[in-house]
Amino acid sequence: MREEVCEEAGRALLRWYDGQARVMPWRVGPQDRQRGVLPDPYHVWLSEVMLQQTTVAAVREYFRRFVALWPTVADLAAAEDAAVMGEWAGLGYYARARNLLACARAVVRDHGGRFPDTAEGLRSLPGVGPYTAAAVAAIAFDRPAVVVDGNVERVCARLFAVETPMPAAKPELVRLAGLLTPMARPGDHAQAMMDLGATVCTPRKPACEICPVMAYCQARRAGLAADLPRKLPKPAKPVRQGVVWVAMRPDGAVLLEDRPPRGLLGGMPGFPGDGWDGAGGAAPMQADWREVGGLRHTFTHFHLDLTVRAAIVEANPMRGAFVPRSAFQPANLPTLMRKVWDTATVRAVEWGATWP
Ligand code: SF4
Repeated sequence: MREEVCEEAGRALLRWYDGQARVMPWRVGPQDRQRGVLPDPYHVWLSEVMLQQTTVAAVREYFRRFVALWPTVADLAAAEDAAVMGEWAGLGYYARARNLLACARAVVRDHGGRFPDTAEGLRSLPGVGPYTAAAVAAIAFDRPAVVVDGNVERVCARLFAVETPMPAAKPELVRLAGLLTPMARPGDHAQAMMDLGATVCTPRKPACEICPVMAYCQARRAGLAADLPRKLPKPAKPVRQGVVWVAMRPDGAVLLEDRPPRGLLGGMPGFPGDGWDGAGGAAPMQADWREVGGLRHTFTHFHLDLTVRAAIVEANPMRGAFVPRSAFQPANLPTLMRKVWDTATVRAVEWGATWP
């Protein structure tokens, strides 16, 4: 596609965005934007971190809760780690929650509470990678940064009919996304590309007939739209086996341990496990352990088949600490550990009324 055609396609996309932009709690819509309303960089950054590998629908409520609890980056920086991790529970990828705090604290400590306003400056913050830096620079500060996520890759692969399979096509797709990025309204352009990929140029059934850039799309012309981007077959995920122990005292207190700060579910509270996660460990105590069920949980790189053992115990544990039942909140556990708790609770009630 020639440069002037790219510019035309970019203009068509912005016209569409002016009428069809999705409403999101962190977004300043195109009309407000043209009236001079600026997005809060804190909101843009927070939403982008939350949206990594999570859907907009899932993020809305988390975002509202976070900004109600911590209205500014300074408030978030001053928050207790455990409070933030608790609110993050369910969003997954806990390393992101730790990075979120580290980043908020760096913004307050090193930048007087203001986010740097360029992609390069944003890259210097902990946990901010090239995608987030570009997205915040474009959306919050209207910098012509090239913002490329999975949606944008797909749109570019189709617009330019790139047949190289992913991930080898990535550098080429970044270059092509750059050709489309305008100097005027780059923030709206970035959001328009995201919206197009999420609502029109969708992975399986692109709605080419209502697409604002249909006239410029080489894949549509070649009848290849739904086949791109091409992908190499994924290797099957390995399966790991593991055991987890749920111990409860007669007074209802539950044994939990904080997970190591790095690694899977790092820093989160959980039930002691046997080393499937690299954290290692035997049963937390001698007890009449009963197998109460099993569950499968899928992480990014592997499936985990976990056997759940439960017991009512009186002895002191060799690992972890008992949390009184009044203070134990399953909702604050990561998803895997909530599944473990549900399994233990349901089955243990079946085998004895003694489960408090
Ligand atoms: Fe995607 Fe179809 Fe639009 Fe091309 S015409 S960008 S394939 S929705």
